[in-house]
Amino acid sequence: MVDINEVAENIYLIDDYLYSIPKFGSVYLLNEEKKALVDTGVATSASAVLDGIRKAGVRPEDIAYIIVTHIHLDHAGGAGVLLKDMPQAQVVVHHKGARHLIGPVRLVNSSIEVQGEEFIAGQGEVLPIERHRVQEIHDGDTIRLGKEQLLKFIDAPGHAPHELCISETRNGGLFVGDAVGVSISENEILLPFHPPPDFDLELCLNTLERLAKLAPTVLYYAHFGVSNKVQENLRLAREKLQVWDDIVTKAIKEDAFDDVARRLMAQAYAELEPIKGVESLRSLYEYMVKIYIHLVVAGHIKYYQEAIKLN
Ligand SMILES: [Zn+2]
Repeated sequence: MVDINEVAENIYLIDDYLYSIPKFGSVYLLNEEKKALVDTGVATSASAVLDGIRKAGVRPEDIAYIIVTHIHLDHAGGAGVLLKDMPQAQVVVHHKGARHLIGPVRLVNSSIEVQGEEFIAGQGEVLPIERHRVQEIHDGDTIRLGKEQLLKFIDAPGHAPHELCISETRNGGLFVGDAVGVSISENEILLPFHPPPDFDLELCLNTLERLAKLAPTVLYYAHFGVSNKVQENLRLAREKLQVWDDIVTKAIKEDAFDDVARRLMAQAYAELEPIKGVESLRSLYEYMVKIYIHLVVAGHIKYYQEAIKLN
């Protein structure tokens, strides 16, 4: 079963069934003279991605670029496996993340530390990528896929220091990776996404402001799908971060930092309330409750602990 949709001219969204959950992981196929993928899903997503590419009428052998918005495993973990079927492809990655794809041991260990051994083991093996197949990207770099399709890379730190957003000229859209949070249930809910160890609130807010100035026509989310409500969603992403920030700031004022985790957890549950009990989103809700909210709460607390230490 493959779920693939043309979401903009020459851009296909392939549902990569991330963690076996439908409608949570987007991989995008750009079908131009040169063909490109944006993100890969985890290693176990590879078969869904390959099926999707073929269903769009494209041969995996003809993929020229595997672009990863950042190196977290749900975005780049499948790159090494996919390369086996894509002998021409270069892996395009932020210069700060490149070495972790070439030698993924530290990346995998850090993922285990954050998400647990069992969860990471279920995502398949992260294969190392040969150095000559990795293309490092800096802010402002471009890649031309065809006469009407020029990609431009934008440094987008905050969720992670190795995050890139990518603008595309054919439709005026922007691939946002995790920089604008997580959009689920057909854009009904937008959640902040700030896992440890790298979440940085200031950088997140700066990035969101910078993206708003680019005034894209559409946002292509990594989690999940596309939205035309660009400025509204960028504003909402900032507001959500602010809400979480307010909770922590208030607790610190009340000298109740020990209670922050409980308060943030309550906030996370409240934000998920609209999808609780929705049958078609059951597996997504379960993942959110079991893994996601613990990640975002831990990421937030770590950021503030370090901020307090610095003061
Ligand atoms: Zn991420």
